[in-house]
Amino acid sequence: DRQADGIGVAERLPDGAPLHVVADDEALPAELLAEDAGDGRLRERGRVLRVQGGVEDVRGEDRIGQAVNQARRAGKAVLVMLVSIDRFGEISDVLGEAASAQLMQDITTRLRMCARTSDAVARLDGDRFAFVMQLASADDSVLLPEKIMAAFDRTFELGTGRDVAVSCSLGASIFPDDAAAADALIKNASIALHHAESSGANRYQFFSNEMNARARHRLEIESGIRRALANGELRVYYQPKINVSTRQVAGLEALVRWQDPDRGLVSPLDFIPIAEESGLIEQIGHWVLEETCAQARRWQAAGLPPVRASVNVSARQFRNCNFVPLVESVLARTGLEPEWLELEITESMLMGDIGAIVNRMQDLRRTGVSLSIDDFGTGYSSLSYLSRFPITTLKIDRAFIADVQDNPQHEEIARAIIGMSHGLNLEVVAEGAEVKEQVDFLHTHGCHLIQGYYYSRPLPAEDFASLLRNGLVERSPAAK
Ligand code: C2E
Ligand code: MG
Ligand code: MG
Repeated sequence: DRQADGIGVAERLPDGAPLHVVADDEALPAELLAEDAGDGRLRERGRVLRVQGGVEDVRGEDRIGQAVNQARRAGKAVLVMLVSIDRFGEISDVLGEAASAQLMQDITTRLRMCARTSDAVARLDGDRFAFVMQLASADDSVLLPEKIMAAFDRTFELGTGRDVAVSCSLGASIFPDDAAAADALIKNASIALHHAESSGANRYQFFSNEMNARARHRLEIESGIRRALANGELRVYYQPKINVSTRQVAGLEALVRWQDPDRGLVSPLDFIPIAEESGLIEQIGHWVLEETCAQARRWQAAGLPPVRASVNVSARQFRNCNFVPLVESVLARTGLEPEWLELEITESMLMGDIGAIVNRMQDLRRTGVSLSIDDFGTGYSSLSYLSRFPITTLKIDRAFIADVQDNPQHEEIARAIIGMSHGLNLEVVAEGAEVKEQVDFLHTHGCHLIQGYYYSRPLPAEDFASLLRNGLVERSPAAK
């Protein structure tokens, strides 16, 4: 009793009544319209799953609730599984509207073929689906995810000679092991899904309690960041970049800190990754940019020697089409000349649509700011196209500097990056030099700009101002 046309196919509810799954922008089929009389009665009775608005969809929950109740009576377990199509947004941007609608329909059909008639399948928002199935035994639970993953092994042929490779991520929870209520089962399945997506996608993940603890931590940090933004709990610390030859401050990097009333000073390593996932990084990044430019301008106005300030930019900010005008408006508002601002992006942002990335970089360079590649050497960017990017600076990753004295491979990489920077006419900065041997090595091999604990840790604004006022730093490669 399964029709072949994907969405709109009738499924059976556990009580035997048909369930009609309808995409949110789709009209009801004629025979249903008659029965529904246009007043949503079918939906009320759980017969039509008009799915929209995320996993919290009330009807989806009801549907799972029904399956759970039935399983409880039968003494059976239930698998709740969420499926998300990896990078569907990007794929459909490339394909265009018609082809991506076709693709989604083919995906829906293929997913439906993975389910037995007794299982329920619902399309949730855009590229998410939910499966609910009764399990005969616990071993049963891996059959469905395996089957679904296998269904994506083949590419999708879109007719026009286009073959599209698509993968998906799955998150699952089980009644009664992981939760007793439908909403908790869905929540736990989406925690598992999130886990699958953030550990590289194209995999499935079952919920675990440890995962739950991590999800709670993530939520706590997330609401903490919102509060920090609202209450002004963020700080910028400034770490100098020193010119080894002159021992003068040649620049600075702005590094965000969170002054939490309970936790104290929180490291960006503990909240930036979470801010990136949740999107809050855009607000944080904007604030750091504005604060740093304003501070740099105040120092200049106070007569301190001007130095170039570097601000970290996350992938999300960089890709936002409003980023260039935002940088321009911050410069205009704070009165800082663009030559005193450098933006640090990471090597991983060089992947993807090279043409679009180069365009974005050129737009940024046209505003007059400099561009550096942070943590260079840790990504996999191809050296052959590095020269296509209009960048000004490479920052050698700390990992290579940390053991440069006793790891011949890292020594070789550091030397190669310095050589390449000279060849491409780029400035090169070494990050993380802590001891004299590292500074000497860098100096000897032609890297004259160093940012590291050897000279200074990141400092609050007042302390950095004293450093600027003094002009010279005390330590030099020749010093003991
Ligand atoms: P990053 O941009 O690579 O910044 C350099 C990090 O290396 C800083 O860590 C700095 O304190 C640390 N460092 C510098 N010299 C030494 C050294 O000699 N030894 C050691 N052990 N560490 C050294 P921090 O401040 O904890 O920042 C960590 C990362 O957080 C940054 O790495 C950056 O990726 C991110 N981050 C910090 N502030 C921002 C921000 O405003 N926006 C964004 N998007 N990311 C930020
Ligand atoms: Mg940086
Ligand atoms: Mg770095």
